[in-house]
Amino acid sequence: MALPAPAPPSALHDIAGHRLGTPAAIRLIRDKEDLRAALGEAARDDRPFAAMGERATYWHNLSLEGAIVADLSAYDRVLVVDASAGVATVESGITLRALDAALRAHGSHLTMHPDGYGDTLLGSAIANGVTAGIGMMNRDFLDQIVGFEVMLADGRTLQVGASRLRGGRPGAVARGLPDLRSVFFGAEGALGVVTEVDVALLPALFEARIECLTDDDAIDEVVALANTWRRRGVVDTLRWVWTGHGALSVHLSSPVDEAELGARVERVCATLPGWARPEITVFGDDFRRGVSPGYDAKWPGPAGHTWRGGEVPPFFGLDAVVPYGRVGAAYAWARALRVEAVHRRVACYFGPDGVNLGVHCVSESDAARERARSVLEAEVPTLAALDAVPYRPGLTWRDELASRADPATLSTLRAVARVLDPDGRMNPGVGLFASPSATTKEPTHEP
Ligand SMILES: Cc1cc2nc3c(=O)[nH]c(=O)nc-3n(C[C@H](O)[C@H](O)[C@H](O)COP(=O)(O)OP(=O)(O)OC[C@H]3O[C@@H](n4cnc5c(N)ncnc54)[C@H](O)[C@@H]3O)c2cc1C
Repeated sequence: MALPAPAPPSALHDIAGHRLGTPAAIRLIRDKEDLRAALGEAARDDRPFAAMGERATYWHNLSLEGAIVADLSAYDRVLVVDASAGVATVESGITLRALDAALRAHGSHLTMHPDGYGDTLLGSAIANGVTAGIGMMNRDFLDQIVGFEVMLADGRTLQVGASRLRGGRPGAVARGLPDLRSVFFGAEGALGVVTEVDVALLPALFEARIECLTDDDAIDEVVALANTWRRRGVVDTLRWVWTGHGALSVHLSSPVDEAELGARVERVCATLPGWARPEITVFGDDFRRGVSPGYDAKWPGPAGHTWRGGEVPPFFGLDAVVPYGRVGAAYAWARALRVEAVHRRVACYFGPDGVNLGVHCVSESDAARERARSVLEAEVPTLAALDAVPYRPGLTWRDELASRADPATLSTLRAVARVLDPDGRMNPGVGLFASPSATTKEPTHEP
């Protein structure tokens, strides 16, 4: 009996409801040969190609119309954990939650990760260039991603990271040579597909969290606190969220022991304003080994749940990186926005260099989310005018970014793209590697 033909792919949306197009085919990738075959199919049929994670990016950075799409969610094995070299090598489709758990089983952990669902794939986190979230006051995401391999549109592989470049043991030496890690960091799938990733085994720490409710308008006090702690190594995360009331959350860690962690907690609590009633959670040994029953609670999204295996919750947000001196103005802008019928939060993630400020909207109603999205997207120039650095490119920010960037730098980036992807096949029209377009927000297939 003949097997029924697979259903043709239907139109896809991202988490924010952007129309991504109808792919020609979606190929489930289980190994590099599957990926090479999918790239070959795109070249043979002269089609665009896109690597796809969970479509949870809300700034519109997938271009799937007529494309061969590589679904990387099953390309997720831990390949090697080499304690002597201090590195684990994993496949790029592993989720951040699974990666963190795998690292914790070896006394390590993921030091910095987005403050969203743990269902983000590692390759997507690299392609998106994670810059904000948990741990950002203390670490950069790329610090721990010491090398990786990229498969180019023609199926060749490229090694990035100083050790891979020297032909040495992956990750054993992370620095000392020019390497191309940063070029792929934030490239939004436009240059190649990240395949195997070397993750440094940084020791799991003794961790605690301090949380307290704040006054609605405590932003100035919170910024003052952030300025006090604005040095790497003092606090790991400082996040302030307003959802109708303010809430401050501080993650702390100690590389030494619980007693030293306790002293840090006390010191931070002593600097909190008098009205603060801090609740303190100290994570124990089971957490460090990744087996705590409460462990998954580290990874919920803004509605308090995860989605792996279930429906992706409708979510939209607009973020920018704001200098410390302009956080008050940006916060006032965010509070004054008129977005109705959505659950809205304004979130500030404080880092050593600046503050990631985001307006995040969740709604079960597609219509309400669409309205909120059009209100927020129309605000991109206003937010950019507050001395903010636009967030990731995608299509939401691309024109704003392209209008500010130095033309020589942009043309150099585009020359790099022509070397790596001469036919302009990879996720075309998205990100800074595509030509700017003042007239259209939809992806185009320009080379
Ligand atoms: C509630 C919420 C909170 C968030 N908080 C933060 C935060 O604090 N900090 C932060 O930095 N981000 C944050 N994000 C953004 C989050 O990091 C991204 O949405 C997430 O990385 C998307 O993962 P995904 O697997 O769904 O990728 P997708 O949306 O499917 O893909 C994202 C991009 O990655 C490319 N891609 C995927 N895999 C590969 C690969 N192997 N090689 C090359 N390109 C690839 C795709 O082509 C696409 O351009 C948040 C998101 C949500 C929803």
